[in-house]
Amino acid sequence: MLRSKLSEVHLEVKLFAESFGCTEEHCKCGCNRLAHPEAFSDLELEAMDCADLEWMGHPSSSLRPEFKVPVSIHRVCLQAFVPGNASDGCVRVHCHYNPKCLGEYMSCGFFNGHKLYKNNDGAHIFYKDGKWRINIDEATDAWIMSSQNDVSSDTPPTGLWFGSDAGMCLVDGEEVAQPEGSSLQKAIQMVKSQLRETCCQERSALTDMQQEIEDVLRAFIKSPDLSYRQLYFQAGKYEVGERYDPRTQRKHFSTAIKMELKVLHTS
Ligand SMILES: [Zn+2]
Repeated sequence: MLRSKLSEVHLEVKLFAESFGCTEEHCKCGCNRLAHPEAFSDLELEAMDCADLEWMGHPSSSLRPEFKVPVSIHRVCLQAFVPGNASDGCVRVHCHYNPKCLGEYMSCGFFNGHKLYKNNDGAHIFYKDGKWRINIDEATDAWIMSSQNDVSSDTPPTGLWFGSDAGMCLVDGEEVAQPEGSSLQKAIQMVKSQLRETCCQERSALTDMQQEIEDVLRAFIKSPDLSYRQLYFQAGKYEVGERYDPRTQRKHFSTAIKMELKVLHTS
């Protein structure tokens, strides 16, 4: 019902960028870490960790500058995945345990009188012996994750599933709205290109931001009540200290970035 009501979310994305302005005495970016920890022995690092903050007198958290004028305002449109017919279905798995079982599973047939699902890496979700299970391939005599309780639900239940030896994963069942893949990719690329053009050219920083941007965009489809979110990032990593002595160098960030995402309308 929810999914059929919500098919598009139009978002306004505002970007702000200000300089942290860290000085020798005051770190405002909150980083101020060793730039080359590999130049120290484990023992030395251990000794420094406990003394670090008192010794340097630096704040451990960043001071967010006042973000006054946006450096860019743009719009993105996200489409929700809408099943074409009753046998379609999309289940999403969030898992740090096995990267192969991550991602979206689309229904691809039936097994034991229940739907069978498959992700892009060939992992399957199937129903067997009173539980929903995930295996990394199409074999149904083994599994790496299964639903918590004996459930007879027609589709994979939303919530935590547990590993056969260890680990766990979070499953979004069919009833949880998901963004349609290409509209999500388009929106992410749009946000990244705005970041690149205005305040962040570092490839590694952009890569770090990508997951957070994707998660927040997904959240707007998943939670129709969500109307506003803001994200903060750090960019422009640099090192200070004696140029030829890595042991004296510490890391800072030059730029504080704020991203505001606001729902304009849904349709
Ligand atoms: Zn700093």
